[in-house]
This record gives sequence, structure tokens and C-alpha cells, in this order.
Amino acid sequence: MKKVHNFNAGPCVLPKEAVESTIAAIRDFDNTGIGLLEISHRTPGWERVMEETRQLWRDLLNIPADYEVLFLGGGASTQFMTVPANLMEKKAAYLQTGVWAKKAAKEAKLFGETVIVASSEDKTYSYIPKDYTIPTDADYFHITTNNTIYGTEIRHDMDCPIMLVADMSSDIMSRPVDVTKYGLIYGGAQKNVGPAGVTFVIVRKDILGKIQDRKYMNPLPTMVDYRTHAVEEARNISMFNTPPVLPIFTMHETLKWLKETIGGVEEMNKINVKKSNLLYEEIDRNCMFVGTAAKEDRSIMNHCWVMAEGYQDKQDAFMAFAKERGMVGIKGHRSVGGFRASLYNACSYEDVEALVACMQEFEKANK
Ligand SMILES: *Cc1c(COP(=O)(O)O)cnc(C)c1O
Repeated sequence: MKKVHNFNAGPCVLPKEAVESTIAAIRDFDNTGIGLLEISHRTPGWERVMEETRQLWRDLLNIPADYEVLFLGGGASTQFMTVPANLMEKKAAYLQTGVWAKKAAKEAKLFGETVIVASSEDKTYSYIPKDYTIPTDADYFHITTNNTIYGTEIRHDMDCPIMLVADMSSDIMSRPVDVTKYGLIYGGAQKNVGPAGVTFVIVRKDILGKIQDRKYMNPLPTMVDYRTHAVEEARNISMFNTPPVLPIFTMHETLKWLKETIGGVEEMNKINVKKSNLLYEEIDRNCMFVGTAAKEDRSIMNHCWVMAEGYQDKQDAFMAFAKERGMVGIKGHRSVGGFRASLYNACSYEDVEALVACMQEFEKANK
């Protein structure tokens, strides 16, 4: 197979071990003689995978017992609707740090008054707004911890006067998280914990089932109500209907790799910071490039940069140069332009070294 360095923003690069064991399980799941794609999700072997996957989430993120961990379909985009459906009685507050946050707020508006406490849209979401007031009469405050398109990140668990809800699609499992600061955390798996097709939801159980006085979507349709997936007898958690078995299996293998090979999220965070520093140092040092995100808000997952003044005409040339050297997925999102390299968990230090070497070579040849 061709040697490439995969910097795609999502779906992302996965640990080789996780992909290999998925292939093996597709052929023969758990020595049953039946492949993963063909087993019943009610077989004991599968129930064990579900239970172990939930346990891996609990172990890795230290999730307390009063939170449930759900694996659902529909992607993070479906959660933009499901979150307000379950948690918003009258009013919610949103921090608009990118188009994902904006899309989340758009769905909330269907359910009630939605306050955008601050937005960085004026500067193409290149920073995280800091000066804002959270209305204390809102049911929750929604943040997007990592802004995949713009390369900004809220890398701490903030103190919030009301319930905090976070879309952590693109930085979940990249660092330790204090889950107790949040009422609910959700995201699509395909940025850091698995392939597309499964959505994780970590929710404190006591916040569910509180909606009374609301006109829209009340009572909740069965599939939209988190309790359908959470508050059943334990063996049915996330098994109300057929779960996405294939992506859950690969997520299980990816988290096992994170726990056993890497040693957990603290270790992962150290490696991620090291990878990220290496690339930002080069972006800042190289005279041909300039970073687009405010330095204090830089993401350690997604790194965005453009050609510096005087070198703008070299953009296509660098893209071709990098492609020739095996760099994949470094084209920036059209709203930012330039380049974006996503250094998710399974992207190795060597991958980043290769990218940095490529940037240095290009500078030497073109300065
Ligand atoms: C990719 C992404 C989404 C959308 O996820 P889907 O699973 O494709 O719906 C939402 N939020 C953030 C921060 C993302 O990076």
C-alpha cells in the first residue's frame, strides 16, 4: 500500500491495530464462525462488546456512575436537535465559535428562545470570544470545545453558572476532561474515536425527563428521548433498536489502543501537545506561512495556516509539493482557505515530522 500521511479533518486516521482487528472481526466475530456484519446484536458476544466499550469510556474519562454513556446513530448534527429537545424548557444560550455552533443554535431556535452570548463570526471564527455573560435563567449553555474548521479550541473545562453542554466531536479523548462540569457531552465518533456512523452522548441522568411546559415536540418522540436509550434495564442501554455495530466495534478497538498502547488520555494529551507544538513552531518559523487562528486559542487537533504576504501565488505549488511527498488532507476548509492539518490521536509524531520537513524543503526551494 502507498505510504501516506493522513491529516484529514474527519473521518480521521485510525490506529492500524483497530482497523486490522475490525477486518478480522468482519470475517469471524468472536470465534462464532459468523462475521461482525452478520451477527445478531443480541448475541452475548456483542453485548460484551457494548459493555466493554462503555467501560472504556468510563475508565478513560473517569465518567461518574450518575452519567450514562450512549452510542446512537445520526451524527453530531442530529444531536443539535436532540439536545434542546431533551433539555430546553424555555431558553438556552449558545457560544458561536464556528459554523457547527451556529448550526446547533439554529436547531435550538425551534424549541424556544436562543441567546447567542457571543460570536467570532466577524473574524471568520479565528478566535474564541471571552467577554460575555451567560444568562442565568437559561436552561443550559452550549459550547463547541474544538472548532474543527478554524483550528480554535477551548482547552479547559469552564466553570459555568448553569448547565454546561458541549459538542466535543473533534477533541474528545485528546485530553483529560472533568465530566462533572458538564450536564451533557456529545459528538460524532469520526474525528477522534472511531469511524463515522456512531455518535457518543455522555449525559447526567437526573437532568432528563424534566420538560413539562413546552409546546413544540412535547411529549418527545420515542427515539428522540434520551431516556429511551439510557434509563432502561442495563442490558438495553443503547440497544433499544439495532445499534451501529460496525463503528462501535472499531471504536472499541480504538479506545483499547488508547488505553493499553498509549496509556490513557493524560499520556495522549502529552503526545498531542508535542505533535501540535512541532507543527505550530514550523508555521511560525517558516517565512512562507502564517497561522490563521489567534495564538492563545489555537487547537491542538486542527492546525490552520495560509501563505504569508508575498508568497500567495505559491499556494497551489505547495499543495502539489506536499501531495508528491505523501501528505493527504491538508487543504484548508473553503471558508478559511490555505491549509489545515488535523493531528488527531492516531496521527503519529513521525507523520508531523514528515509534514514539517516538507514545509522546510519547500521554503528552501522557493524562498
Ligand atoms: C464534524 C463535526 C460535526 C458534525 O458531525 P456529524 O457527525 O457529521 O454530524 C459537529 N460538530 C463538530 C465540532 C464537528 O467537528
